[in-house]
Amino acid sequence: MGGPGSGYYLRFDSKQTVESMYDIDIRWMKKRGLLEPGTISKISWSINGEETGSVGFQVTKSRMILNYRNQHNGGEWEDIEDEIFFTWTGCNYGGKRQWFLCPGCHRRVAIIYGGKYFRCRHCHDLTYACQQESPPFRLTRKAQKIRKRLGASLCTSDPITEKPKYMCTGRPLNY
Ligand SMILES: [Zn+2]
Repeated sequence: MGGPGSGYYLRFDSKQTVESMYDIDIRWMKKRGLLEPGTISKISWSINGEETGSVGFQVTKSRMILNYRNQHNGGEWEDIEDEIFFTWTGCNYGGKRQWFLCPGCHRRVAIIYGGKYFRCRHCHDLTYACQQESPPFRLTRKAQKIRKRLGASLCTSDPITEKPKYMCTGRPLNY
C-alpha cells in the first residue's frame, strides 16, 4: 500500500499555510553543494528530531527531479515525480545566481513549496494567513512568528536574520 514506510513522502492538508509547508530554498542547497549536476540526495523536514516528510532528488545541469509519495487530506498515496528547471541571472563580479523556474507560472524564485507538487508561493495561492484573520488571532500569529524566529537561532549553521530553514534537522516546524 505504500505510505511513509516505503520511501520518500510528503503529507499535507489544504489548511496548511506557507509557513508550515515543505520548502526548498535554492540558496540553502547551494550552500551545501547540492546543486552540482549529478547530485543524488534527499531533503527531509522534521519536528523535534522526528521526520515529518522527505523527498529524494537528483540534479542535472538544467533541472532538479524530485521523487516522493504524496498524501493530500488523508487521501490516497500518490507517486510523484516533479521536475523543476533552473534559470540563472548574472550578478556583479561576473558571477551567476541560480534560481528555480516555477513550473506553474515560470516565475524566477528562490524557494519552492510542496504541496502535491513543488511550486512557488503564488502558485500555491498562499497569501499570508493574517490577511484574513481577525485582530486577536493576528496577534497570536505574530507571537508564533516571533517564537519561530527564535527557534531559528537555535540552529547554529544559519544566521539568525535569515528565514528559518526547516530542512535543518531538529528544528521545530510549526513555531
Ligand atoms: Zn509559480
